Amino acid sequence: RKLGYAIVGLGSYATRQIMPRFKDCRFSRLTALVSGTPSKLEQYGEEYGIPGRNRYSYANFDSIRSNPDVDIVYIILPNSMHAEYTVRAARAGKHVMCEKPMAVSSAECQQMIAACRQANRKLMIGYRSRFQPHNIEAIRLARSRAVGKPGLIESEHGFTIGDPTQWRLKRALSGGGSLMDIGIYSVQALRYMAGEEPVSVSSTEFTDRRDVRFRDCEDRIAFNFLFPSGLIGQGFSSYNSNHNHLRLSGDKGWIDLDPATSYGGQKMRVRIGSDEREVDPPAGPGANQFAAQLDHLSQCVLTNREPIVNGEEGLRDLRVMEAIYRSMKEGRTIRL
Ligand code: NAD
Repeated sequence: RKLGYAIVGLGSYATRQIMPRFKDCRFSRLTALVSGTPSKLEQYGEEYGIPGRNRYSYANFDSIRSNPDVDIVYIILPNSMHAEYTVRAARAGKHVMCEKPMAVSSAECQQMIAACRQANRKLMIGYRSRFQPHNIEAIRLARSRAVGKPGLIESEHGFTIGDPTQWRLKRALSGGGSLMDIGIYSVQALRYMAGEEPVSVSSTEFTDRRDVRFRDCEDRIAFNFLFPSGLIGQGFSSYNSNHNHLRLSGDKGWIDLDPATSYGGQKMRVRIGSDEREVDPPAGPGANQFAAQLDHLSQCVLTNREPIVNGEEGLRDLRVMEAIYRSMKEGRTIRL
């Protein structure tokens, strides 16, 4: 059986990356749309064959409760709206997929987890890279000690942000700057490659506050994690330079992904001793990372399993990011 998804927020990521991927899914289908813009409901409703009764505004969203076509609500709104819509979806009896970052604070994450638990509904965060073949293979190689005992993991993520009026640059909607939006990929990657949780965090920020884009939000942050095994993580986040990279170095070699977490085109090189080669990973769990992510939650619902990237996983990233911000403000190492 294919479970029905309602998409909340018909912006760029929803309409260009997620909605076109339902055709590649085995356990998921698109059955409803939620938007504040009637013309988008009309346009995408026609394109995807969504009947009028399954098109919702934010005002009548809660009536989705009585719609048997919808099993899962997927929230693809600006970050500050994730918590409210997750709680409303859970109260309407629906399972929830929520985009990254899970919310704008760890306190909100806890409310979201509690609301889904109380409603006995699954909660998953849209960490698509965990369903991407190169990242899956990199994690497998790291865990199997293919490059020996890991000493350092590096991950840099950034892009040059444009329009200074967009919600990503308004703290009230984004919760912060590059770290909340793109640096979170570095935070996630350091954690999933390490397979352990950082015990301390330190960071350094640089933002040119004269730049109209950065009146409200930070531009660049470099951060360091210390893991319990002695492994060090070095992360970078930027709104003014371009990076998409992940590398783990061990005492016998290294694993390098560049690009690491993009929508496509991942490349992986591995060096073990003196042998260096490009690695083509085995096929992933779905036709692509997006379909595999959508189908993972459907399968978890169908078989009553916990998603590999559940609310607790989203909360862990928020806690680490709050520590990065605290270190930046207080100019000291934060113990976790
Ligand atoms: P976007 O600006 O393209 O879309 C946001 C949508 O929210 C728009 O349709 C907009 O109309 C709607 N909206 C509702 N209330 C709004 C308000 N007060 N202000 C602004 N917009 C409002 O953004 P996006 O790139 O689609 O990002 C949406 C979410 O998806 C974010 O949480 C982002 O982090 C996440 N995202 C994830 C990935 C990924 O690869 N996993 C990629 C891009 C975005």
